[in-house]
Amino acid sequence: MSLYLPIAFLLLQLIILTCFGPTVTAPAAYILMVIAPLFAAAATFWRGRSHTTSVRFGWYALALALTIWAVGAFANLWQEMILHHQNEMYRTSMVAFSLAVVPTTFLVASDWRLHQRQLLRVVDALVALALGCTYSQYTWSMIHDHAAPTEAGVTYLVWLLDFQNIYLALGALVRWYVAQDSDERDLFRALAVHLCIYFVIVFINDHYFAGNPAFGPQYGTIITVAFAVLCGFALRAPSAQPVHLVNAALIRIVRSGSPILLALALLTASLLLIRVQYLWGCVGILIAVLGIGVRTTLIQVQHIERREALRREASMLQTIAWTDALTGVPNRHFFTEALVRAWRDERRSAPQAILMIDIDHFKLLNDRYGHPVGDGCLREVARALQRGLGRPDDVLARYGGEEFIVLLRDSTAAGAQVVAERLRSAVQHLRLENASSPESVVTVSIGVASGELTDGTVAGQMVEAADRALYEAKISGRNRVKLATSRISADAATEASISARYRRLRG
Ligand code: GH3
Ligand code: MG
Ligand code: MG
Repeated sequence: MSLYLPIAFLLLQLIILTCFGPTVTAPAAYILMVIAPLFAAAATFWRGRSHTTSVRFGWYALALALTIWAVGAFANLWQEMILHHQNEMYRTSMVAFSLAVVPTTFLVASDWRLHQRQLLRVVDALVALALGCTYSQYTWSMIHDHAAPTEAGVTYLVWLLDFQNIYLALGALVRWYVAQDSDERDLFRALAVHLCIYFVIVFINDHYFAGNPAFGPQYGTIITVAFAVLCGFALRAPSAQPVHLVNAALIRIVRSGSPILLALALLTASLLLIRVQYLWGCVGILIAVLGIGVRTTLIQVQHIERREALRREASMLQTIAWTDALTGVPNRHFFTEALVRAWRDERRSAPQAILMIDIDHFKLLNDRYGHPVGDGCLREVARALQRGLGRPDDVLARYGGEEFIVLLRDSTAAGAQVVAERLRSAVQHLRLENASSPESVVTVSIGVASGELTDGTVAGQMVEAADRALYEAKISGRNRVKLATSRISADAATEASISARYRRLRG
């Protein structure tokens, strides 16, 4: 079906043009030139309807371009067959042919499938429209109704058409090459092949056949081949073959660079126009410059918005990464970061304190009441500890299973002991039942270490010293605060083995 229809059309055309005399072939040629683009328009519209993605608008845009082209061909037919003005270039048809370029130019030059902003699409469409209008104005000023244009005028027009057609054909080839999915590839393959054939036929027609009385209108009908090929591509079933993605950098360059080329094309066409129509030439230049300006601003705004959204997302993810899911207080990873910040801080020469807090007989609580109760207990204890810390600089974190750790900034050993006692008492006063504990309620033991956080080694030693003090609090009866007795120094390393032993004992 995809091939039969266009081939049947071309065969019929061949039969009509070769088997009949000029009285039939001349009007038939004009009629075929109207029917062929209309057939292609119907096929591309039909193809667009079969797509659900944004690629359908690409096929619709093609259908629109072909319909406008058919209007131009109809204007030719009207002038030649009905009004009998022969061998002229007609303003209406030339203007229609110029405007037919607008949807195709938009398709090739705008990044219409990716824009999150409708306004960017509108800007590109306006620049494409201005380009079409500039072509039309130029054509309009070159052609006089009912009089053949001057030799120079025709030459200029022919070059303008060559420029238009080669610009579009190359653009479509590039878009085909960088297509990102099979639907887009189908669309741009059809467009590229059609535009390349169209360019070659129009080039031969304009440079060799047109204006030469030896060649009748039937020679011009060869252009229908371009429409028949497009028709064939549109009627083909969508290809399921995966797209071989080319270099990502090249795709980015084409997608962001092609709208600039669109504005440049408008600028070039306006500079040509300015010689014959000063005002419209200036308007074209203004639209090209404004188009680039507005586009750049919109993209800039889009980038800023995206960057801010990413920053918000990153900070949200960081909060999640640094928070203990069960208790909602910061986790050990966050505490390590806080410790690093503390020793890099200029206040590091002031005394800092570390409190290591461990819930007493927690395993027994879990065994007696079950893990969900244990979890609830951990949450309550964490809340009580957080409430018990007075200064915003203080950092509380869940260090491990039922262990919490606190960093107190600018705090002497004595001051830290006061805070630790307050925290211990706060947990006891929660009165959370633990029948397995001698106190009958949940209690904590706290080890306190104090020193100057000069570097990472000292920070590690302080944590170990607090851990050792916690061990002392445990073995001397639990539910109490113990201050690390040993100074934090290099020989703390040997003492660290005691703490390691204790940890092993606790499993
Ligand atoms: P001690 O007084 O010597 O600290 O005794 P303990 O029972 O508190 O200490 P131990 O280290 O023997 O037990 C800690 C228990 O904490 C073991 C583990 O089941 C429990 N635990 C660790 N993480 C969680 C948790 O996220 N939820 C609950 N419910 N229990 C936990
Ligand atoms: Mg414990
Ligand atoms: Mg423990």
